[in-house]
Amino acid sequence: MAYDLIVIGSGPGGYVCAIRAAQLGMKTAVVEKWATFGGTCLNVGCIPSKALLHASELYEEAGHDFGKMGIRVGAPALDLAAMMKFKDEGVDGNVKGVAFLLKKNKVDAFQGVGRIAAPGRIQVTSADGRTETVETKNVVIATGSDVARLRGIEIDEKRVVSSTGALVLPKVPAKLLVVGAGVIGLELGSVWRRLGSQVLVVEFLDRILPGMDLDVARSFQRLLQKQGVAFRLSSKVTAIDTSGATLKASVEPAAGGTAESVEADVALIAIGRVPYTEGLGLDGVGVKLDDRKRVVVDAHFATSVPGIYAIGDVIAGPMLAHKAEDEGVAAAEIIAGRAGHVNTDVIPNVIYTFPEVASIGKSEEELKAAGIAYNTGKFPFTANGRAKVNMQTDGFVKILADARTDRVLGVHILGPDAGNMIAEAAIAMEFGASSEDIARTCHAHPTLTEAVKEAAMAVEKRSIHM
Ligand SMILES: Cc1cc2nc3c(=O)[nH]c(=O)nc-3n(C[C@H](O)[C@H](O)[C@H](O)COP(=O)(O)OP(=O)(O)OC[C@H]3O[C@@H](n4cnc5c(N)ncnc54)[C@H](O)[C@@H]3O)c2cc1C
Repeated sequence: MAYDLIVIGSGPGGYVCAIRAAQLGMKTAVVEKWATFGGTCLNVGCIPSKALLHASELYEEAGHDFGKMGIRVGAPALDLAAMMKFKDEGVDGNVKGVAFLLKKNKVDAFQGVGRIAAPGRIQVTSADGRTETVETKNVVIATGSDVARLRGIEIDEKRVVSSTGALVLPKVPAKLLVVGAGVIGLELGSVWRRLGSQVLVVEFLDRILPGMDLDVARSFQRLLQKQGVAFRLSSKVTAIDTSGATLKASVEPAAGGTAESVEADVALIAIGRVPYTEGLGLDGVGVKLDDRKRVVVDAHFATSVPGIYAIGDVIAGPMLAHKAEDEGVAAAEIIAGRAGHVNTDVIPNVIYTFPEVASIGKSEEELKAAGIAYNTGKFPFTANGRAKVNMQTDGFVKILADARTDRVLGVHILGPDAGNMIAEAAIAMEFGASSEDIARTCHAHPTLTEAVKEAAMAVEKRSIHM
């Protein structure tokens, strides 16, 4: 039987694309090589990392902040195995949820490695080596990404780990070396710091969180340092000696120079992710990749071969689950003859540490580089009633608005619950709001979101509580 659409990969891009296609009446199937659906995000990414961030945050709060609120509990004791079980149950619930949704929408599933044998023909090889070939009118490549590796450093997922290994460590490492100060390194570094590790983050650049607004990144680094995370910026790890009981990492200045030996029990390599297209047979069918091995697509997610589309981490753009999901919906709609679209200017980016960091739109550095005149409105959580009463006053909201039109161009939040609050900015920006629109919108009191309103008022230097 021929399908209208076969999606290769069941991550947030793939499964969402398949469901939307089925809703639009297409006969749809997914091919997934892992035993469970949900891809990186649900199995070894967003979901397990957020479970550990949540649990470790409460562990730390119970140890440090409960007393201040009059809650007397003894010093909390860590049961790491139980915490891991909590995380695994969360993952299990989520991946089963995807299986349920695929079934509910009558999306067929093939378990195995998918290869595009020819346009319209997908070969699936299952774990026991059996192969079958399925016919389809359209294909969506949603094979996601894999861990980026450092040349000469082997990841054994025991002592030298990627994010995947860092999510399943059997005991708290006394010393954790994190290579790379991006989102994943800082989130997982925070988890293990809260659970008792001494954490050192080594970053090649002279700043953390490349791409984020620099003002936010610098303030965030100071907060992490206050929490006990140590940083070595403008430095690179060139080798890790695993021969002894303790790892010995060679750390050099980024520009080159004398190497210093840094000891660690576990090293987390978190230097980024790379698109994953292994075994897909793209060469054979002529699907073009760019110089970073990403599948090249046009504005309609179409690759260089008619009938083959690609979405998510395997194409250009931020490697984020919600970006993959939105592209999945858009691609399905386009294939169904509708007008699917993703606004790449309005994709929120969140770091789920404490406090959280959330940003959307342009950073100050990007606006300066583009020569766009802008006004800035900033409001600190120290002046927000709810943050004060909760004793969570670190951070601020910053709104960047076009100097000529007042249109909101970027919103950056460092503070508690920033990841939820950024949704307001996303809606506002989707509707082309000005900072005045946000400033004149009634926000509930007492909420942290009042800081967003006050930052919008600060664009015209008229915030009330500062
Ligand atoms: C530790 C960690 C934390 C993260 N946290 C967040 C977060 O909080 N928020 C966020 O937005 N993003 C987060 N991400 C990123 C997010 O996981 C990815 O952006 C997202 O999963 C990309 O979705 P995707 O559908 O493109 O690909 P993936 O989720 O990578 O899914 C690809 C799927 O394709 C399958 N596959 C590959 N090749 C084949 C083949 N030939 N045949 C069959 N199946 C195949 C794979 O097995 C996989 O299931 C995190 C990532 C990591 C590693």
